[in-house]
Amino acid sequence: MKIIKNIFELNKAIKNYKNIGFVPTMGGIHKGHISLIKNSKKMKAETIVSIFVNPTQFNKKKDFNNYPRNIKKDISILKKLKVNYLFLPEVKELYKEKKEKFVLKKSEKILCAKFRKGHFEGVLDVMNRLLSLIKSKHVFMGEKDFQQLFLIKKILGKKYKIKIVNCPTIRDKNKIALSTRNKLLNYKSIKKISNINLKLLKLKKDLVFKNYKKQINLSKIITKIEMNYKIKIDYLEFRDEKNLKLNEFKQNYRLFIAYTIDKVRLIDNF
Ligand code: AMP
Repeated sequence: MKIIKNIFELNKAIKNYKNIGFVPTMGGIHKGHISLIKNSKKMKAETIVSIFVNPTQFNKKKDFNNYPRNIKKDISILKKLKVNYLFLPEVKELYKEKKEKFVLKKSEKILCAKFRKGHFEGVLDVMNRLLSLIKSKHVFMGEKDFQQLFLIKKILGKKYKIKIVNCPTIRDKNKIALSTRNKLLNYKSIKKISNINLKLLKLKKDLVFKNYKKQINLSKIITKIEMNYKIKIDYLEFRDEKNLKLNEFKQNYRLFIAYTIDKVRLIDNF
C-alpha cells in the first residue's frame, strides 16, 4: 500500500487508472469501513482509502479534538486488506484551493441538518474536494450515515458522474452500529444503546408487519425512551428511503434516530 500525503503525488500515482474504487473515511478503521473496502475489492477496483478528520464538518471544536484517531493501527489494518493507496492529506493541503460553497435548501434542513448547523455543508465541501482529485468509477459509502449518503448522491453524484454505492450498516452482536465514536462510550452506555436498538428494531418490524400507511406520532415513545435511558433524543422519525420525506409509507421507509448519551452524539437508522 502506498501512502500519499499531497495532491501532486496523488495525481501522479492515479492518473492512468480507469477502475478506481474510493472509500472516504475519518479513520479509526472498523468492520464498517472494512465492508466498504471489501466491496471495492470485489469490483476488482484499484482501491483508494482516504483518512481525513474534516474540521469543517464539526460544529464544536471540542468534538473535533476528541474524535478518536489511531493512524498507526489504521495503516496496519489497511495494509492487511491490500488497499492500493491511502490518501492522508493535512488540512492545509486539502483546503489550499478556493472551492464552491454548498448551501442546503430549506427542504434539506431536516434530521441532522436541523441540529448540526453547517455540518453537511462541511461534508459536501470536503467530498467535493476529494472527488475532484480522485476521479473514481465507484465511491463506497455506508447507510449508517444515510442522510450524508443521500445528500452526496443528490448533489455530487451527478456533478462527477460517479456511481455511489450504498453499503449496509455493519452491527456488532448486540445490534450496535459500528462507529469510531463508540470508543468514547463506557460499558453502561453500550448496554443502553443495545437495548434502545432492540426496541427500535421491534418498533419498525411491528409497523412493517401491520403494513402501516398513516402519519405516526412518536412523541410518547420519545419521552419514554428519554426517561428510561436518561438520554436526549434530537429526533426519532420515520422517513421515506428515496426522498427522506416524513412519514411517507408509500415505499420503503426507515426509522431515523439521533441522540446524545454519555456526552457522545450518536446516529442510526433501521
Ligand atoms: P466515517 O469514518 O465515520 O466518516 O465513515 C466513513 C464511511 O464508512 C462512511 O461512508 C460511513 O457511512 C461508513 N460507515 C461508518 N460506520 C459504518 C458501519 N457501521 N457500517 C457500514 N458503513 C459504515
